[in-house]
Amino acid sequence: MTTTPRTALTIAGSDSGGGAGIQADLRTFFANGVHGMTAITAVTVQNSLGVQGFTEIPAEVVTAQIRAVASDMGVDAAKTGMLATAEIIQAVAKTLDEVHIGRNAAIPFVVDPVAASMHGDALLREEALEAIRTELFPRATLVTPNLDEVRLLTGVEVTGRESQREAAGALLEFGAQWVLVKGGHLYEDPECTDLLSDGVQCIELTGPRHDTPHTHGGGDTLASAITSGLAKGLGVPDAVEAGKRFIERSVAEAYPLGAGVGPVSPFW
Ligand code: PLP
Repeated sequence: MTTTPRTALTIAGSDSGGGAGIQADLRTFFANGVHGMTAITAVTVQNSLGVQGFTEIPAEVVTAQIRAVASDMGVDAAKTGMLATAEIIQAVAKTLDEVHIGRNAAIPFVVDPVAASMHGDALLREEALEAIRTELFPRATLVTPNLDEVRLLTGVEVTGRESQREAAGALLEFGAQWVLVKGGHLYEDPECTDLLSDGVQCIELTGPRHDTPHTHGGGDTLASAITSGLAKGLGVPDAVEAGKRFIERSVAEAYPLGAGVGPVSPFW
């Protein structure tokens, strides 16, 4: 008999193409030696060309999934991805409090504020953005927006290092403990620089920019890799550093699949 591994819970949507969402989260947890558990919020119909549509799961079923795993198996860290509606977000926030997950409890909680796919397809009903700010950010150990999500959440247009810092400050005002403003979409920057801040420390994490169109699921993979590190007991800066190295490798090995955008790679 071997020992029980650390556990991580993803509260997110399914990607039928297997590149992003729950599917990316589970393989990232697996690759990092963590047992992955899921509370599925929505089922998307998608392939490499984009998201054709989605159906959300009833909020009470999302709640029941979180309660089921937390009460029996235990959760060492949790993350959210696609949450689809304000009703699901409100239910998730309430349930996380109940099972003591979040910045004010002992269990780390990462919020990846997924709003749209890289093709521009909506993954969140419009009225739900406010619920992400007010319900999830104050409970988050870390939030991991990309630059499009930063603009939607704060109105700040990040064009360089200075506005990246400004965005971090604006995001922290919503109550998260740490923010990671990802710079991967600053395409004119020859490197990918992410800014991690808790309002006191400001840490720049720089890595190579890989010349590939195949980055589907990249955001989910980074947030899940960070969540894996937190589940294993790393502090936020160390978990983010390890997550950054994990996503770099996954992007370097990304592969074509279908006629559109292929996924970052789990094979290495
Ligand atoms: N589908 C689901 C279920 C997701 O959670 C996400 C991103 O979080 C996407 C699609 C979009 O992924 P990408 O923007 O990497 O294509």
